[in-house]
Amino acid sequence: MRIFGARVVDCPSGPGAGVPSDETAVYLTRLADICRAAGLDVVEVRGWKRRGHGPMTAVKTIVCHHTAGPKKGNMPSLNVITNGRPGLSGPLSQLGLGRDGTVYVIAAGLAYHAGQVRSSSYANAYAIGIEAEATGVDPWPAVQMDAYGELCAALVRAYDLTVSRVLGHKEVCYPVGRKSDPNFSMPDFRARVTKVLKAPATVPVGTPAQIFSAVWARDAVKGSWMTPDNPTWAAQSVVVTTFKDQVKAADAAKAAARALPAAAADARATTAAATTLRGTAAALGATATPVAADAAQTRAAADRSEATLAALQASVRTSMAEAVKAAVETSRVRVRVTVRSRSAAAVPPATNPSSATGSAPHPR
Ligand SMILES: [Zn+2]
Repeated sequence: MRIFGARVVDCPSGPGAGVPSDETAVYLTRLADICRAAGLDVVEVRGWKRRGHGPMTAVKTIVCHHTAGPKKGNMPSLNVITNGRPGLSGPLSQLGLGRDGTVYVIAAGLAYHAGQVRSSSYANAYAIGIEAEATGVDPWPAVQMDAYGELCAALVRAYDLTVSRVLGHKEVCYPVGRKSDPNFSMPDFRARVTKVLKAPATVPVGTPAQIFSAVWARDAVKGSWMTPDNPTWAAQSVVVTTFKDQVKAADAAKAAARALPAAAADARATTAAATTLRGTAAALGATATPVAADAAQTRAAADRSEATLAALQASVRTSMAEAVKAAVETSRVRVRVTVRSRSAAAVPPATNPSSATGSAPHPR
């Protein structure tokens, strides 16, 4: 910053000299919308629409600065830019640019940022000042430089300027060399701004706010009753209303278009489901009869098994009884046989050779 006041060296004499009468008393109340429409993150500093050392005369130049402020923080110079410093009251610029690329909208009126300049068109009354937070010696974050380029491109569009009107404080100051900010190459920076402007629009036309910013803020519609940032353009409401109606109509048409194939698909799906259901029912019916038959067969088989089992048990019982009886019979037979054998032994024949040894016979 280090701003030396608002006096200009070659200012035409008299208020508004060389300026169309409808370009006086300009408050840049669209700044926040312009920035948002460009896709920038915006913080509106409370009271910004009424803040300024009176109104701007017109917008002819964008003057880029760096704050030469503290090393830390996103926008530590915000308070000084807004409220000023000893010897110089705020606002000290209309816009601030944080290290993360956030745009702080500080004032809509004239701000003391340019100081003495080489041409009246660079003076505070004609120049939007951007104070980007930077020490002036450290590297710039890429996100901040990107935002700086996008911000200047948005302002060039909004105020119908050429990129050549994006100037560094070091380029506009008087005497030459009085200022060194910003500490980057301004030709390179203008090339960056040009690149942004030539890039395809990335802001889709969608909401009334976007329409407003893209068309109104760019002053695309010219008329004798329109001045940049004139908040009373009557056409706005017409377009917004029309847009709303069109959106509604388009939505309705889209919904109808969506509903038509959806209904057809629903019908097809329903038919398919019905067919499947019929098939399933038939299959189920076919299965039901065999199942019933099976059940009967199973029951009969079970009955048969039970009968067989009972028969088997009975048979086993019978067999066992018979076997026992037979065994008993056999025993009796054996017993008889044994008895007979004993009887036979008891009466050995006289010619038994064992008796020749003289040993006595013994019972078995
Ligand atoms: Zn500066």
